[in-house]
Amino acid sequence: MTTWKNNVRTVVPYTPGEQPKTKVIKLNTNENPYPPSPLVGRAISDLDLDSLRKYPDPSCSSLINTLAKYHSVEPENVFVGVGSDDVLAMSFLTFFNSKAPIFFPDITYSFYDVWADLFRIPYEVKKLDSDFKLVASDYSEPCSGIVIPNPNAPTGISEPVSFFENIVKEHPECVVIIDEAYVDFGSESCLPLVNKYDNVLVVRTFSKSRAMAGNRIGYAIGNKELIKYLSDCKFSFNSYTMDAITLKAGVASIEDDEYFKARINDVINTREWTKEKLKGLGFSFPDSKSNFIFAKHESIEATHIFEELKKRGIYVRHFSKPERINDYLRISIGTAEEMNTFIEELGKIIEGV
Ligand SMILES: *Cc1c(COP(=O)(O)O)cnc(C)c1O
Repeated sequence: MTTWKNNVRTVVPYTPGEQPKTKVIKLNTNENPYPPSPLVGRAISDLDLDSLRKYPDPSCSSLINTLAKYHSVEPENVFVGVGSDDVLAMSFLTFFNSKAPIFFPDITYSFYDVWADLFRIPYEVKKLDSDFKLVASDYSEPCSGIVIPNPNAPTGISEPVSFFENIVKEHPECVVIIDEAYVDFGSESCLPLVNKYDNVLVVRTFSKSRAMAGNRIGYAIGNKELIKYLSDCKFSFNSYTMDAITLKAGVASIEDDEYFKARINDVINTREWTKEKLKGLGFSFPDSKSNFIFAKHESIEATHIFEELKKRGIYVRHFSKPERINDYLRISIGTAEEMNTFIEELGKIIEGV
């Protein structure tokens, strides 16, 4: 039949975690429970309204220069975008252009296969082992690209830089993307690899550790040539990805390193407290180096706990696919007070079964 539908790019979109409109204890999307630095607030409230008449700086130089200084690289090593989702999507579009497949883990950030489908990139998923660990040898075969989060999501497990360095070394024929969305919560960063190899791209976000998911800031650090190709694709798509207010807010966040480190520390302390309490309630989980814990109860089904928590106004995340993770709940780390309430309610749910 002749119909315009034959020419549609059909995709199954990514499903983000729920954003309830009522006040709940929200432990379902790995947001930071603390507000961003007060300097961010000041930068936004001091904004000159008249400046919004003009397009924002398409080169985003204030934010790029600040990030370059912070990470001791050159501005030409930095690319910024509207959240790391934008940066990752642009990186898929730019670097993964082959008939050979790209590789990523079977249990990982569930946006990778969506972008691969959207951009018609063939891919092969590599199975995590029974402890949810990455299997290094799976990534040795020739391919046209690799993308892995470190720590991985939703497992929270991190690997040392040496693990990724071996992969990067083995694959001069393709770009290896390390998605460091959660690296600030206690893992080793692969940033040093950027100075040694021209085929590694490290992607970061302000959404988790910097408590600015609402602003949408992500960035990539890599060899100058990689960044140039990425920018060429971006400027062929939308020159003004980042708005003027967000650019100011981003700079202010980087400038308040003391506040940043203090809040990270708070989240890490609460995470370690939560691990102990969860163990006491009969949960097991891989050791998390992120701001969430991926936990399974010894006898009670995850969906039961999920529904009961929701009734009590506590939201966590449950993934029904792939099947081997449907017994798990991904619990984001809230404030100490929120986690206390969470553990109390969880205790009642378990007792009630
Ligand atoms: C949250 C997350 C992102 C996306 O973050 P943005 O809000 O788009 O910056 C990317 N990768 C992983 C693994 C994430 O968990």
